[in-house]
Amino acid sequence: MSGGDMAKPLLGHRSMEGDASIAPAAGRTIGVLGSGDFARSLAIRLVCSGFKVVVGSRNPKRKAGLFPSAAEVTFQAEAVKKTDVIFVAVFREHYSTLCDLADVLAGKILVDVSNNTEINHHKESNAEYLASLFPACTVVKGFNVVSAWTLQSGARDGNKQVLICSNNQEAKRTVAEIAQVMGFTPVDMGCMSSACEIENIPLRLLPAWKIPIFLALGLFLCFFTYNLVRQVIHPYIREQKNKFYKIPVEVVNTTLPCVAYVMLSLVYLPGVLAACSQLYYGTKYRRFPDWLDQWLQHRKQIGLLSFFCAALHAVYSLCLPMRRSHRYQLIETAVKQAVEKKMNIWVEEEVWRMEIYISVGIIALGLLSLLAITSLPSIANSLNWREFSFIQSTLGFIALVISTLHTLTYGWSRAFDENQYKFYLPPTYTLTLLVPCTVILAKVVFNLPCIRQRLLRIRRGWEKGRYVKFVLPSATGEYSSGETSSNV
Ligand code: NAP
Repeated sequence: MSGGDMAKPLLGHRSMEGDASIAPAAGRTIGVLGSGDFARSLAIRLVCSGFKVVVGSRNPKRKAGLFPSAAEVTFQAEAVKKTDVIFVAVFREHYSTLCDLADVLAGKILVDVSNNTEINHHKESNAEYLASLFPACTVVKGFNVVSAWTLQSGARDGNKQVLICSNNQEAKRTVAEIAQVMGFTPVDMGCMSSACEIENIPLRLLPAWKIPIFLALGLFLCFFTYNLVRQVIHPYIREQKNKFYKIPVEVVNTTLPCVAYVMLSLVYLPGVLAACSQLYYGTKYRRFPDWLDQWLQHRKQIGLLSFFCAALHAVYSLCLPMRRSHRYQLIETAVKQAVEKKMNIWVEEEVWRMEIYISVGIIALGLLSLLAITSLPSIANSLNWREFSFIQSTLGFIALVISTLHTLTYGWSRAFDENQYKFYLPPTYTLTLLVPCTVILAKVVFNLPCIRQRLLRIRRGWEKGRYVKFVLPSATGEYSSGETSSNV
């Protein structure tokens, strides 16, 4: 299995919050080496949390004014002598300049808070490097995922988790205790070999979003080109009409719902494929291929991007009448009518189509908003499994069906009008219907009693071709045992 949330061990990282073995530590003296941004924020937060703080600087006189008066700012060697726990708020490149302090640091706990500028920048993690420079010290990796700003902005703001690792359990517990008193949630990441992973975390740029964003961009590009050819290039080549003004709003607005609709169906398609695989192999214990695993893991992000495109489509649609081109077209139509002395242009079918089209569009957007809100961790955590699955699975599927109605009322009979085939290209909405209709059809098939029963049995652990033991009473009343295939 590669990447994503599935790559992380489920039981490996233990939240240390509420760990009875962690005792309050306030009042203890904590050392901070360095007087930069991080050291300053750390000192402020430590002082606010009730710790005594001693800061070790190469130039204490100059730096003292930057720290709260409760914190003592002194020379590095002096600071180190006064405490057993020292936060090293210095860049890795400068660790070697601390080697003069090796004797006074011996036997103490060093907290490595450093980050790198690139993922896997060095062969060994910064914490392991620090440990190699100071073998007589116990090094704990921690606090690097917290920014100086988060440290200053108080316990309720920003990221509350502090990932900690060390080869020494006692030292790790001491640092976890300090983190907890400071209002953070310490998370035990195991031994020092995890330091590299912890150091890479702040450098990752939206790892779970990469595939969904590329997917959305790819779909946008394809549909945009297709719409551009149909709405702008075709009239330009065939009728010498200049419709390039349509590119910024109209072409974009016909592209966005296509992306939103197809992306929404892509949230439910991997579930359908997974069910097909389970039905085919008759087991839930066979691993899905990696690409399907990855796809299943990214459904939330794909759904959120679908909502984003749908919301943009709604805003664009609301702004359509504001355009000058629209006003000119209205006036032009009115003048034409006056010249032709037409009094009634009301087309009952068109009126009804638009009313239904807009209404189902609004309902679909409302449902998508609900899905997006309930996928936020704080809301999702307040729902039980049944509520979450009802909203994300049942209401999500209803949103897909309603979006299909929205698309069909938009397209109406255009698929059967040969004038709509520009360069033999069918109207865009017919293309977007392909995947969603497949998903809807598959869901209907899976809900047929015979298939639904089989799928439910498979998901409860039943396997095709697996032999189970059975015990039968014999004619004499004695029990005889044997084996049979569970799917007979
Ligand atoms: P900074 O503002 O540049 O401070 C670094 C400090 O290191 C200096 O103020 C200096 O203090 C001290 N230092 C000790 N020996 C040094 C030497 N030989 N040359 C230069 N400076 C030396 O950096 P920072 O932003 O506070 O970051 C410090 C550490 O925290 C880094 O490892 C960084 O990766 C980590 N970190 C920072 C943040 C953040 O938001 N800033 C977040 C997470 C982790 P004296 O002059 O008083 O000795």
